[in-house]
Amino acid sequence: MNMVTCDRCSKLFGSPGPRICPACSKELDAIYKRAREYLRDHDRERLNVRELAEAIGEEAADLDLLVSMGRLRLFDEDDGVTASGDREKLLQDFQKSLNKGKGSQKGQSSSLYVAERYRKKD
Ligand SMILES: [Zn+2]
Repeated sequence: MNMVTCDRCSKLFGSPGPRICPACSKELDAIYKRAREYLRDHDRERLNVRELAEAIGEEAADLDLLVSMGRLRLFDEDDGVTASGDREKLLQDFQKSLNKGKGSQKGQSSSLYVAERYRKKD
């Protein structure tokens, strides 16, 4: 049996596979049940992890774990649009900083050039 660190509480424990310790599994089971019940009663609401966590009074991180374990499927408002939007913005910022870098480099070298010419004249 391998020793693994629990994904939830960071405790070291012996596990044949799962990366969640038995204590956390039990807690997650309870949270999972509560989440399922809430979703069943509110099946028209498109909740994301944070909203569901607030609704059932649990930690969003625990629901995140359940989602990443494939036990829960939640509506994710951050999916797709925002992510690619962020990437585009990052790219734009990167491009901007590149252009800025080029500009200042140009400025530096041309002023150096001027200085050199000035020196040669003297
Ligand atoms: Zn644990």
